[in-house]
Amino acid sequence: MKYDVVIGLEIHAELATASKVFCSCEQYFGGEANSRCCAGCAAYPGTLPVLNKQAIAYAIKAGLALDCSISLINAFDRKNYFYPDLPKSYQISQLYKPICLNGKVTLSDGCVVRINRIHLEEDAGKLIHDDYNGVSLADYNRGSVPLIEIVTEPDISNGEQAREFVEIIASRLRYAEVCKARMEEGSLRCDVNISLKPQGSPVLGTRVEIKNLNSLKSIVRAVEYETERQSEMLEKGKTLVQETRRFNENHGRTISMRNKEEAQDYRYFPDPDIPVLKIEQEEVDEIRKSLPEMPQARLERYVRDYSISEASARIIITSKYYSDFYDMAVQAYNNPAELANLFVVELFRLINDHQHEGDFKFSAAAFARLAQMVDQNLITRAAQKKILEIMFIKGGEPDKIAKEENLILENDTEALDKAVAQVLAECEKAVQDYKGGNPKVFGFLMGQVTRIVGKATSPALIKEKLLKELE
Ligand SMILES: [Zn+2]
Repeated sequence: MKYDVVIGLEIHAELATASKVFCSCEQYFGGEANSRCCAGCAAYPGTLPVLNKQAIAYAIKAGLALDCSISLINAFDRKNYFYPDLPKSYQISQLYKPICLNGKVTLSDGCVVRINRIHLEEDAGKLIHDDYNGVSLADYNRGSVPLIEIVTEPDISNGEQAREFVEIIASRLRYAEVCKARMEEGSLRCDVNISLKPQGSPVLGTRVEIKNLNSLKSIVRAVEYETERQSEMLEKGKTLVQETRRFNENHGRTISMRNKEEAQDYRYFPDPDIPVLKIEQEEVDEIRKSLPEMPQARLERYVRDYSISEASARIIITSKYYSDFYDMAVQAYNNPAELANLFVVELFRLINDHQHEGDFKFSAAAFARLAQMVDQNLITRAAQKKILEIMFIKGGEPDKIAKEENLILENDTEALDKAVAQVLAECEKAVQDYKGGNPKVFGFLMGQVTRIVGKATSPALIKEKLLKELE
């Protein structure tokens, strides 16, 4: 029998606020265990939560970046469960009045994935299991870090779509500058809900949830494994149980953790310590204005207005910093195709070779000038490459570096005229061949002229002069 695969995602994204969502402890990745843990984080009796305004603003911004509508009335609820990473034994979340509703994302194959809701909640601490000593240790630095949970409708039907969806969400959150979205650091985590049903059937099958996938690769692998496992079970006439499973990366398999809980199992109730939150429409409008152009819109603009290839545009939009940098360079020197080429080929080679992260040491204007210098026959392509590497490592201005490195072309036009005349006179046979329709000899003639004028003359200039004389 053939089956339809039905997948919905729950993506947890940590908001990159300066402090936690319900106390003033700092929040960032890493650091000594329990070094950012106040009485509130540790759930001492009598401590009270104070809602972080920045977390609200960031959650709104995330919602707008994902085409959601923003709820002006928000309420917080307690989700009750016991686990040692949660000292209060309840998590403050939003069940009934989430902050964002009804977003959507369109995938490259045209599939529209609807976002049901985004709610704001607090993260739990982290348990570190020490198998050697047989103990588990709790680090509450991550406890109460602001988290948004993005819940989709079951619109996804394979692992590749799931991967692309998560990639788009991560990219948009990074552009909105509300989340670092680094799966390897846990600032973006993904749960996959997956079920199978006979092809075309309106009735959904039994749903299995795979928890905490922490890389794009794992998402694809887990979906593939689970699709296989569930279809095999159904083929054998077995009944699937609704459960939560964990993906073991080493073995590439999912393992049952526990039966899946329903909302009622958590005994949600309104948190009496946090008043209902009213958001003003003006605030939403202000945040909307602060939202930068999203990556997809930039990609379309580059292809449409700058006539650069989609593949190049995709590389440039991998980060907002790169894309902003490229836009600034185009503003400084209006040759988008040449700048895209220099960016995608040479600059990206350096980024990869040096495993570079963060800002460049040179300005967009300096980068633009470097592209212009070749167009103006001031330096060769090889020199451009060398100058870019120096700028990449130490920073600086291309004109100054070119002088220091003795890379400026002399372009002695008088000497060039003489050399061309000499070569054309000496190489009569080659000239006849060229005129007779053999373009290959042009390279030979170029070589002859270059030998006389030396490397201090721009090859473009030599070519231009030679072509003119041959005409
Ligand atoms: Zn705290």
